[in-house]
Amino acid sequence: MYDYLIVGAGLFGAVFAREAKDAGKSVLVIDKRPHVAGNVYTKNVEGIHVHEYGAHIFHTNNKTVWDYVQRFADFNRFTNSPVANYKGELFSLPFNMYTFNKMWGVVTPEEAATKIAEQRKEITSEPRNLEEQAISLVGRDIYEKLIKGYTEKQWGRDCRDLPAFIIKRLPVRLTFDNNYFNALYQGIPIGGYTKMVENMLSGIEVRLEEDYLKNKAAWDAMAKTVIYTGPIDAYFAYQLGTLAYRSVRFETELLDMPNFQGNAAVNYTDRETPWTRIIEHKWFEFGKDAAGNDLPKTVISREYSSEWKPGDEPYYPVNDEKNGALYAAYKELADKEEHVVFGGRLGEYKYYDMDQVIASALQCAKRVIQ
Ligand code: UDP
Repeated sequence: MYDYLIVGAGLFGAVFAREAKDAGKSVLVIDKRPHVAGNVYTKNVEGIHVHEYGAHIFHTNNKTVWDYVQRFADFNRFTNSPVANYKGELFSLPFNMYTFNKMWGVVTPEEAATKIAEQRKEITSEPRNLEEQAISLVGRDIYEKLIKGYTEKQWGRDCRDLPAFIIKRLPVRLTFDNNYFNALYQGIPIGGYTKMVENMLSGIEVRLEEDYLKNKAAWDAMAKTVIYTGPIDAYFAYQLGTLAYRSVRFETELLDMPNFQGNAAVNYTDRETPWTRIIEHKWFEFGKDAAGNDLPKTVISREYSSEWKPGDEPYYPVNDEKNGALYAAYKELADKEEHVVFGGRLGEYKYYDMDQVIASALQCAKRVIQ
């Protein structure tokens, strides 16, 4: 009998497993996929760490979390600075002086501020949805060219039906600073995320390609406590209905050229281009292999967003009112499961970033492990 059965070898599961193991507990980690690291999994293709489940850029303001991850990886100096491609015109992201200059020809911060102030006048009360929030932050021109199409492709919903908080993730700056994140610490683990998670799981028993829900009773009998990081609605066999998720599909290609787009991420912000962005993985590590040599080839992934249906991988919870209410109902059921703890993006139905997942796993471990 294990002290803990951890369902899911992603960040939440790996951090909890590490903490439990270090506290002297017996731990078994299972995952239905053939690899560890969940959606932060990276695969080595021709010396390039390919982010198989989409771009992951580690960033945090939380010193405890930053110090914690340093135990398992060294981080490089990568700074996320995506480029937006709107019908062939390129703009700097997030919204900063380079963006405003390209959009309006303004040169000084004062001119940019005046332009935004003029355009935000159409919003007269507290923004009630993403469209109003976006216009009130940066004005209608930027909303139309850089936000509307991308957001509607990513979420499959009208910007008026999406919560305002999603767009607040993006900084707006009247300076020439195109760092996408307002985080004190940022970087990519050298050697890939998979290696980092493997390091977290070192000395811990892991069984891959094991589907907990298919054989739930048998697995439950093996441990005193279960840490479940899969979708909360799936755990309860969808008895109250299915929560909505967005899924993502990638078309990945190895190209025989050294440089396809000159940046790790290019967002396609018009409505017509079917993909939301193209990731060129080598630029997360400055185009070099482990020995520091320039890589002759490149791997790109076109990212397509879709509504989740059974059988797809869930990626993003859809935090609108309807799904929030359904999640709250599942949460009530979850609280009654005495020997099970729900955690992570899917277990808590939250649009967590990696650092938030790690913080939450550390807190959970503190609370649960006696
Ligand atoms: N966003 C946008 N245009 C962009 C990039 C982001 O409007 O070019 C908005 C959009 O509403 C999106 C949110 O910012 O849903 C978060 O996007 P991001 O790409 O940062 O999310 P991730 O997929 O990386 O978590």
